[in-house]
Amino acid sequence: MCGIVAYVGPKDAAPILLEGLARLEYRGYDSAGIAIVSKTLKMRKVKGRVADLAAAVPARFKGGLGIGHTRWATHGVPSDVNAHPHLDGAERIAVVHNGIIENADELRAKLTVDGVTFASETDSEVLAHLIARTVKDTDSLEEAVRTALKRVVGTYGVAVVDAERPGEVVVARNGSPIVLGIGEKEMFAASDVAALVRYTRQVVHLEDGELATIKADGFHTFTMDARETAKEPLTVDWDAGHYDTGGYEHYLLKEISEQPETVARTLRGRLDDRFHIAHLGGLNLTPHETRAFRRVKIIGCGSAYYSGQIGAQLVEELARIPADAEPASEFRYRNPVVEHDTLYVAISQSGETYDTLAAVQELKRKGGRVLGIVNTVGSAIARECDGGMYLHAGPEVSVASTKAFTSTAVAFALLALHFGRVHDLSPADGRRISEGLRRLPGQIEEILAKDAEIAALARKYADHTGMMFVGRVRGYPVAREGAQKLKEISYVHAEAYPASELKHGPLALIGPDMPTVAIVPDDELLDKNLTTLGEIRARGGRVLMIGHRAADPKLADDCVVVPKNETELDPILLTIPLQLLAYHAAVALERDVDKPRNLAKSVTVE
Ligand code: GLU
Repeated sequence: MCGIVAYVGPKDAAPILLEGLARLEYRGYDSAGIAIVSKTLKMRKVKGRVADLAAAVPARFKGGLGIGHTRWATHGVPSDVNAHPHLDGAERIAVVHNGIIENADELRAKLTVDGVTFASETDSEVLAHLIARTVKDTDSLEEAVRTALKRVVGTYGVAVVDAERPGEVVVARNGSPIVLGIGEKEMFAASDVAALVRYTRQVVHLEDGELATIKADGFHTFTMDARETAKEPLTVDWDAGHYDTGGYEHYLLKEISEQPETVARTLRGRLDDRFHIAHLGGLNLTPHETRAFRRVKIIGCGSAYYSGQIGAQLVEELARIPADAEPASEFRYRNPVVEHDTLYVAISQSGETYDTLAAVQELKRKGGRVLGIVNTVGSAIARECDGGMYLHAGPEVSVASTKAFTSTAVAFALLALHFGRVHDLSPADGRRISEGLRRLPGQIEEILAKDAEIAALARKYADHTGMMFVGRVRGYPVAREGAQKLKEISYVHAEAYPASELKHGPLALIGPDMPTVAIVPDDELLDKNLTTLGEIRARGGRVLMIGHRAADPKLADDCVVVPKNETELDPILLTIPLQLLAYHAAVALERDVDKPRNLAKSVTVE
């Protein structure tokens, strides 16, 4: 969460920082600020969006060195003073910070005793004061940052400037991402490559516990003990165009519409027609090791967790290996039993999700074998895992996940096919699944062609204060994801339940004011699902059915028919109308579709 940008070079920093912050705004958007160093340190920060900051930055903010920040508040309300950067009392040091300083209260108390006055309520401000104290004695910004960070408990990505050193920015990472961008006689740093790709595609990812000093003519990286580290630059695959809305009104609609292509990219080069298997070299598992796992445990947060539930069902169905999914945020705090014959799979679009990263680190510490299913190449979770799969879905900017969700489910189908063919899945079934996977992009196109029909349904249902989503077995994670999508971007209350559980409690909520979105695939549970629809209708409930055949008007008021694939793969397609439903409901309710309130993408705080 939160976006950090830093620049040092021959150009004016302010426009570069503002442009970079606009690209990072999906990471946090309650306030924003920049600091520029030329002869003096100039700072402007405001509550609100990057556009509000841009309007407030005066033309006289000239200078080729600066740092910027978009905030997602953890300590103190969104306000002008709590916005970053934060300064020391002498206004020499400016700091932007992403993360949480856990011992901030203790440090604040000590500094206050020493006569320091605090301007903000944030945890981050302690960093500015701590650094300012050392820099006076050492005259080394690097050393001052290292010394300050040694006193800090918590997570951070930070960028620091010193008014008396107009040629360098010091950055550091511990739990919150920092990536350096290498330009022509200019250097950048940011929390995400999205801020850099307009200027350079040569990047260097910092590791946890690593710091860097960037100057116009280069950079060097080092550890908290001042040991130099060697880094190889990577070339980013995506250019600036991949981070634009591409003519769509919102990133969300663009990303929903990209799914035929993104699913095809997740599949590309991974299906083998000779043995009807999946080629997944990045797993780093021999067939012998693959056979030895007796369980698969999947962890992720939010939509990643729901895609993990689809994944667990695919692994059980195709490979007959017991599998389940759990929120990574819960898993890491319950002292999990880590077994040597369980394979752990961590899912994260950004590869930086803090709860998932912490769970992976806990698993590794206990000797667990962890695979990562990650979209962002070179991200922390990707580097931490023993192996895994990249989604290749391209940058996902909208806060609500869509294309990463479907690509994750497709990645699990490949994983399940791979495990299945090592175990007992027959070549014929392997072929059936491979062919089904290949049909997905075309079938997604068919669903996207129903956009106007689904938009009309969204307008019809959007004015309810609550909606129920139900599904059975394969349909249940789909229902959960549908409810999640609706609530996060339209703010309409949405509950997801297994269809079978409705009569055990939530049926009490059903009536004309509480419509139900029912996931009704044409599978062996069809009759059971139709019975549930009858029970809802008998209580005066309205039903919007998402299924494979037109609904009996006695059982459903409305219906979206999606193309049928292999039964195991149907959940992937059934999700797509729900994405469009949530999108159009949010538009009808005039919500901020790409930046829903209170949320941010890449949740890099606890
Ligand atoms: N903890 C800091 C604050 O509340 C930084 C939050 C962020 O990552 O944006 O200001």
